[in-house]
Amino acid sequence: MPATSVSEKSVDEEFYSSTPEGYKTGKTKYIIVIGSVMSGVGKGTFSSSLGMLLGCYGFNVAPMKFDGYLNYDAGTLNPYRHGEVFVLDDGTECDLDLGTYERCLNKSLTKANYLTAGKIFKSVIDKERSGQYMGRDVQFIPHVTGEIKVLLRTLAMKSDADIVLVEVGGTVGDLENSYFIEAMRELRHEEGDSNFCAINITYILQPQSLGESKSKPAQLGTRKLMELGIRPDVVVCRSENQINTSIKEKISLFSDVDVDKIYNLWDTRNIYEIPLMLKDMGMDKAVFDVLKMAPKTSGEESLSKWKEFTDKAKVADKEVVIGIVGKYTNVHDSYLSILKALEHAAPYSGARARIKWIESTDLEDKKLAVEDALKDVDGMIIPGGFGKRGVEGKIAAIRYAREKKLPFLGLCLGMQLAVVEFSRDVCNLEGANSTEFDSSTKHPVIDFIPEQVELVKQSKYGGTMRLGTYTAVLQSGTLASRLYGGTSASERHRHRYEVNAEYINMLEKNGLVFSGRSPDGKLMEFMELKEHPFFIATQAHPELKSRPLNPAPLFRGLVEASMQHAQAR
Ligand code: GLN
Repeated sequence: MPATSVSEKSVDEEFYSSTPEGYKTGKTKYIIVIGSVMSGVGKGTFSSSLGMLLGCYGFNVAPMKFDGYLNYDAGTLNPYRHGEVFVLDDGTECDLDLGTYERCLNKSLTKANYLTAGKIFKSVIDKERSGQYMGRDVQFIPHVTGEIKVLLRTLAMKSDADIVLVEVGGTVGDLENSYFIEAMRELRHEEGDSNFCAINITYILQPQSLGESKSKPAQLGTRKLMELGIRPDVVVCRSENQINTSIKEKISLFSDVDVDKIYNLWDTRNIYEIPLMLKDMGMDKAVFDVLKMAPKTSGEESLSKWKEFTDKAKVADKEVVIGIVGKYTNVHDSYLSILKALEHAAPYSGARARIKWIESTDLEDKKLAVEDALKDVDGMIIPGGFGKRGVEGKIAAIRYAREKKLPFLGLCLGMQLAVVEFSRDVCNLEGANSTEFDSSTKHPVIDFIPEQVELVKQSKYGGTMRLGTYTAVLQSGTLASRLYGGTSASERHRHRYEVNAEYINMLEKNGLVFSGRSPDGKLMEFMELKEHPFFIATQAHPELKSRPLNPAPLFRGLVEASMQHAQAR
């Protein structure tokens, strides 16, 4: 039983409540994952794997990622610094970890699953401006922590979740997430011990010079968490290599957590196996034990589907080399979903995709000849992107793919540049370009989407793109409709520019096929070339919806075509 019930109102609660109307304490359990020692140890991968495993037992798991930065969302973040901006069906621009959750849980998330400090503070200040705090001074406790609890409980109610799985971004000790961790402390008190499970994911150092494992930073990290009032229920020790029991014993002494609830997850090459590893370790049982819950189903059916995929991936041995011509090629997280989509698609063809990164600026500056860069690849992707730098390099690569019949997949900017290349070289429109890169081009074959012009005129920046899922109607008999197995495709978008309607007829007359359009026929969503084994591009980002158990059709197509190209090479 909770020490105090949330229905008993304190003096503060007369004026302010962190419990939404109709909320039932105990209906939803909360799992909170907090990192210590350092970031970048796979907290998101762990949390989503655990969520997936619990989902297999018939529970409705709703993830929530909290990021401590003051940005309202991830839309204005530079992918070079932060990794790719992930987009949800509802157009939310978020951290790439949300993608990991979607892929693992095999379900689509919404803005309610993603929280930033900016969003919390904006909501608090909006409430203050509209007088909702009834003349009180607005404070971190109870108002900011209360806002966090309201948002978590609202997610629990709206998604009818059995379990809300919260991943706290950053590391314990960061100023940025301190009030969030305080909110979690309050949450445990209000929800009750059996409805709350805190998991500390920590890191064990294994310096080569010492040849042994060092747990001191992990001990200090756990202590820091306890200073903030959170006693972990489960500790996960990440490490490079396996650790021994004496390390677990030391951590146990410092954390009050029994050794049997301290786990070791050492580095593994195949992250898809982590849910199965967690099950083998018995972490599911440990969590059920803390939360006093029992599985709804044996989990076997869902787990066997997952295992089928991991087995397929294990035996897939035909290598295909996919060239990715991009701008952030030294920060692979900038293209994470593309890498994932290839990882999902390849095993279904018995293949393993090896990536060859090709820096578009090197092609542009002629530091690298296009033929040299592409002669040993079996297929090529031009991913999404913004800004002028590297664009001419990408266009040169597209020309090579078109002329040499190299399988090509263009994504968003990749489609726009394929249209530019075709206009220049096949339609003889000299200097054709997108107005993003040349505002005074004689042939603006790619131009602003009219609705977007208005938003930008109001000098709004965040959230001003065409965002989220839109359906395209596919022309039957085309490669697009063959790959999608029908005449419709629903994919996610993030762009400001589009094919200029004035050029559509001319492009089509010259042999370019717009194989998918928006339902009103106005926006060009897919294009392809007939006299080519595989040349297809889309204004969307199909990589964002790819899942291990449901790989994206265009990526499956690219892998297949690349395998054929490899055979002929
Ligand atoms: N920069 C282009 C646009 O805004 C392409 C965007 C993208 O590739 N996501 O339309």
